[in-house]
Amino acid sequence: RELPGDPISDSIPRQVFHACYTKVLPSAEVENPKLVAWSDSVADLLDLDPKEFERPDFPLKFSGASPLAGAVPYAQCYGGHQFGTWAGQLGDGRAITLGEIMNSKLERWELQLKGAGKTPYSRFADGLAVLRSSIREYLCSEAMHFLGIPTTRALCLVTTGKFVTRDMFYDGNPKDEPGAVVCRVSQSFLRFGSFQIHASRGGEDLGIVRSLADYAIRHHFPHIENMSKSESLSFSTGDNDQSVVDLTSNKYAAWTVEIAERTASLVARWQGVGFTHGVLNTDNMSILGLTIDYGPFGFLDAFDPSYTPNVTDLPGRRYCFANQPDIGLWNIAQFASTLMTANLISDQEANYAMERYGAKFMDDYQAILSQKLGLQKYNKQLVNKLLSNLAVDKVDYTNFFRALSNIKADPSVPGDELLVPLKAVLLDIGKERKEAWTSWVQSYIQELVASGISDEERKASMNSVNPKYVLRNYLCQSAIDAAEMGDFEEVRRLLKVMERPYDEQPRMEKYARLPPAWAYRPGVCMLSCSS
Ligand code: AMP
Ligand code: MG
Ligand code: MG
Repeated sequence: RELPGDPISDSIPRQVFHACYTKVLPSAEVENPKLVAWSDSVADLLDLDPKEFERPDFPLKFSGASPLAGAVPYAQCYGGHQFGTWAGQLGDGRAITLGEIMNSKLERWELQLKGAGKTPYSRFADGLAVLRSSIREYLCSEAMHFLGIPTTRALCLVTTGKFVTRDMFYDGNPKDEPGAVVCRVSQSFLRFGSFQIHASRGGEDLGIVRSLADYAIRHHFPHIENMSKSESLSFSTGDNDQSVVDLTSNKYAAWTVEIAERTASLVARWQGVGFTHGVLNTDNMSILGLTIDYGPFGFLDAFDPSYTPNVTDLPGRRYCFANQPDIGLWNIAQFASTLMTANLISDQEANYAMERYGAKFMDDYQAILSQKLGLQKYNKQLVNKLLSNLAVDKVDYTNFFRALSNIKADPSVPGDELLVPLKAVLLDIGKERKEAWTSWVQSYIQELVASGISDEERKASMNSVNPKYVLRNYLCQSAIDAAEMGDFEEVRRLLKVMERPYDEQPRMEKYARLPPAWAYRPGVCMLSCSS
């Protein structure tokens, strides 16, 4: 009611002008919907009694086949830069918001069905989702949450009982795959692109950018809304003291800076766990600094800065692992320029937000890498040398940091025994590389000794930030293969393991293993945007 909506409510693909959303009902073809996986922890967030999952009408409601009482479903209008190029209107092409729930803590949670049919934003596509990509979104949303990384959540996964046709990119032949619907949950699904679309249209739509910003600040950044004018929050931008940015005089500037900082923090955390999003287009950037839209994502196995899980992004590798921090800044620059176009912030304020992105990213990244190494101070040389060693020897990123906590702060260990604690992760390493690693471990031990923390204490703190279990692509793929044969036990088991990524879980050791040979065969574990 606060924001302009589309007066038409059909699902015919079209340009929707002067509106933030279109009311549209789920229309997925559903034959025999089945609830195949669900998250008790998300149910808890929503004050939903887990018994609800057992109700016979639950799969009907969460596949979109029957309405949810009180819901006024809609699809959002947004635009975005895709792979660096302005793509115009995109929007919720296969996502339909059911509505918002206010929980007992007075938090608002939006429930959204992904894969529940066409909307005006579906363009040339069908509005549906296949089981394979739905399992990936469902599992990774929850895995990221339990890793401690801000993300949209997933309440449940329902199969529709109908098939969906997809062009498989590796052989060009269309294939029928089981259809599914994920119920995503987030405090908001607003993206950078939600603002960009209206600014791009100019004229009266510039006013929508302001209304939408007011809405976002009021509901999701209340501390900025309530920011006291008397509080001094002035920052000098560089050496020239004449250019001072006062964040109390312009709530939109304070807001932009907070979004820049949240984004920087998020990307730093991704780098910490070796997560590559895969499609960092501006329509996939949450204004809350959440990981959003799980498509061709991937966790690093062997360390490779140019790792690019999305085959659509080859050979350019715009969204490879090591580029994510720069891409975050590029995206913030687009967002800030949108707000400038709508006259909400000045170019100085935009520049300041970008500066804050850089500073916040470096602060957080250095803190995270220091924690991963069990050190209190960031040692640039030590980190750079380590990352280059990991890349040269293609060492498993996750298992390496987990094993590193076995090293003792003991300078008397003889040179030929220094690598013993890392034996299981430094595989097939020649004599010359052994020397490189031995020399790194020697400098590392010196730092450990200087830090004065006991071995036990350090191991515990390192293990609390270096996960033992991450959602490797091959693990996802195994669960998908079983699910496509009708067995969802592996999906559920994988979720249970990923709910405790930092714990040892001795009976689940196999989920910490390196990818098996089959994972590298062409076509297996290949991921693209369009699934
Ligand atoms: P993504 O690459 O997943 O961020 O999607 C980019 C745009 O394509 C968004 O507007 C999506 O809603 C839309 N889209 C992706 N898949 C489909 C689909 N199967 N049907 C309709 N729209 C889709
Ligand atoms: Mg998207
Ligand atoms: Mg997507």
